Amino acid sequence: MSSSTFDIAIIGAGAAGLHLALNMRDDPFFRQKKILILEKESKEQNDRTWCFWEKGVGKWDHLLRHTWANGDFFCMGDALPLHLAPYQYKMLRGIDFYAFAKKALAAHPQFTWQQDAVLSVDTSSPCHIACSGGQYTAEYVFDSRIPEAFFQQDQYTRLLQHFKGWVIRTPEDCFDADRFNMMDYRLQWKDSTSFTYVLPLNAREALVEFTLFTPSLIGDGDYETMLNRYLKAVWRIEKFDIVESEYGVIPMSDFPFEKYASDKHIRIGTAGGWVKPSSGYSFKNCERNAVKITENLKSGRALNTGIISRRFRLYDAVFLDVLNRHNERGPSIFHTMYFKNDVQQIFAFLDEETSLLEELRIISGFPKRLFLRSLINVLTRWL
Ligand SMILES: Cc1cc2nc3c(=O)[nH]c(=O)nc-3n(C[C@H](O)[C@H](O)[C@H](O)COP(=O)(O)OP(=O)(O)OC[C@H]3O[C@@H](n4cnc5c(N)ncnc54)[C@H](O)[C@@H]3O)c2cc1C
Repeated sequence: MSSSTFDIAIIGAGAAGLHLALNMRDDPFFRQKKILILEKESKEQNDRTWCFWEKGVGKWDHLLRHTWANGDFFCMGDALPLHLAPYQYKMLRGIDFYAFAKKALAAHPQFTWQQDAVLSVDTSSPCHIACSGGQYTAEYVFDSRIPEAFFQQDQYTRLLQHFKGWVIRTPEDCFDADRFNMMDYRLQWKDSTSFTYVLPLNAREALVEFTLFTPSLIGDGDYETMLNRYLKAVWRIEKFDIVESEYGVIPMSDFPFEKYASDKHIRIGTAGGWVKPSSGYSFKNCERNAVKITENLKSGRALNTGIISRRFRLYDAVFLDVLNRHNERGPSIFHTMYFKNDVQQIFAFLDEETSLLEELRIISGFPKRLFLRSLINVLTRWL
């Protein structure tokens, strides 16, 4: 098989790969570069819905399905209204992002989009990429495949955020399209950190997802049982049509993904540790880190520079360790977090934009013994 040569190869046209490619498209530095995108899927299906919070106008506002300025948090018999301003909670369908990116990149001849499954990458210089349909070489490779080592280790905590959701349509008005449920703990799976969130699109349509932060998955039918029970018990909804459904499993881990890199080959997205370990959110991290990577590439810095904060990694690791050892305590910990802090502080904390003092104030609200024990656990495992 002959091999084609590129300056840059991006493996995976998901959130991370496309953010990176779109950044390169917009930057004159990359105009003369030959850039290859290798993606095994057609990306013509809506395989996920991304939600994220953001202040004011955002880069993807023209693609959004819906936004909310107000929401609610339900936990342990309490209800907390959330007024997000200056933030908004935004919803973007995967398919809309993929279609936009495909079209935007197709207009720039320096990009080649190849549907092919990558089998292996040899990271000598230049990197050699073996695919089921061909071979490629590239000076730099940005790789969305999760390193095998992640699945083989037990030094780091590995929880899963797993969920099943339905977009439902009801025969009567049931929802307020201006309010969403951030987390609703009124129905839980056994003694676990599990909740439902509800994202109303109009009075008769909403995305409803049952979500768990646990070490292992539950049966497919169990998510559906919980969704049916939740809709009946909490919303008194018995009749509805399922318009769309989605299922997802997101790793929540303090595993050092960023170490599985060389000078010219780094992991991106979930595979690069860009999923916030304590929340599972990563769409905005993909946007932010794609900017950092293109800047690093242009200035000759190590490609991963400025991506992972050691301080926030430690907070996340301690939090995951607590959930791993005492999964049943999750609801009361989230209750403390939401009731003792403004939602704006929580968003800034999860975005890693707070000061040490602000972080200590948030953390000091959590059960001290439980968290101290986990801090010792984490440090023992890490050192
Ligand atoms: C159902 C679901 C809902 C989510 N909702 C949210 C949300 O609301 N907010 C949020 O912030 N985060 C959310 N996440 C988490 C996170 O944002 C996404 O997983 C995000 O898509 C991660 O970006 P990524 O590029 O790492 O992975 P992906 O978007 O999954 O992209 C990886 C790409 O690589 C391709 N690929 C993999 N292996 C190969 C190979 N060998 N050869 C070629 N191509 C390959 C895949 O086909 C895929 O297109 C969600 C995740 C899921 C699964």
